[in-house]
Amino acid sequence: WQKFRAGLSKTRERLADTLGELFEIDRLVDQAFLEELEEILITADIGIETVNRLLEPARRKLALGEPLRTGELKRSLREEILRMVSLPAPPFPPEASPAVIFFIGVNGVGKTTTLAKVAWHLRGRGFSVLAVAADTFRAAAIEQLETWGKRVGFPVVKQAPGADPGAVVYQGLEAAKARGVEVVLVDTAGRLHTKYNLMEELKKMVRVAGKVIPEAPHENILVLDATTGQNAVSQARLFSEAVNLHSLILTKMDGTAKGGIAVTVAHLFKLPIRFVGLGEKMEDLAPFEPQAFVDALLP
Ligand code: GDP
Repeated sequence: WQKFRAGLSKTRERLADTLGELFEIDRLVDQAFLEELEEILITADIGIETVNRLLEPARRKLALGEPLRTGELKRSLREEILRMVSLPAPPFPPEASPAVIFFIGVNGVGKTTTLAKVAWHLRGRGFSVLAVAADTFRAAAIEQLETWGKRVGFPVVKQAPGADPGAVVYQGLEAAKARGVEVVLVDTAGRLHTKYNLMEELKKMVRVAGKVIPEAPHENILVLDATTGQNAVSQARLFSEAVNLHSLILTKMDGTAKGGIAVTVAHLFKLPIRFVGLGEKMEDLAPFEPQAFVDALLP
């Protein structure tokens, strides 16, 4: 909880300044106030659609000439943001044996690092973990996962660079079954370029997983880089059209004062946020805390 709070310091400092000032004196809300509030929320990376949704009740009141005080508006905003980021999530790791978790997202968002952090977290809780290097396109991705595996202490199932990702998933899940591993973490590819169909490849990996282990993958985690702003929304849209996403991890929250992207993606795609990434080390991962998050965003 404290790690989470500390990791959000940039968001807290920035927004505490601007929003704190705006809401400092309890007074009647007017058009100018709403416009200023709208601008601040948008610069915090809460997308326009979500901001409109948040401000709609206040706008309606104003249009009807009903008085609304800033204190009351702040309370209802906090409640609504809390609601948006508090979607119910099943237990983690999923209750399956082995539980199969896919890490999905475009290159560079921190997917491999996040997988290693989650492995470390699960190892700390006493689970046996195995990773599958299904991003076979980049030799560096396989090596990176192996380096993490040595550091954190988890085996990695891999094939040569360029191998069929579906085949690696098959081999990885068979190995997990044979060894009685409790949680399998699958690192998927994330390159986006035109000549190559990432989405078809992902769908195939999902199908293969389901053939080896019933209902697998049990959780598809979309990994998003919190510093990329509204790009994260486009990525969520792209992946949600291809596969069934279950949850989110937002990385690099330590590097942004615009934590608002979490609100937008969670709200638009109805995805619970599992963890946030707060740095480059394996311990720099914290479970998402809705209340602490709202406190950082709108103190
Ligand atoms: P991938 O291509 O999505 O697998 O991304 P990587 O795992 O290789 O990460 C890309 C870069 O982001 C690396 O330099 C990581 O150390 C860095 N990174 C990942 N997560 C975080 C985070 O939560 N905070 C910070 N500051 N850096 C991170």
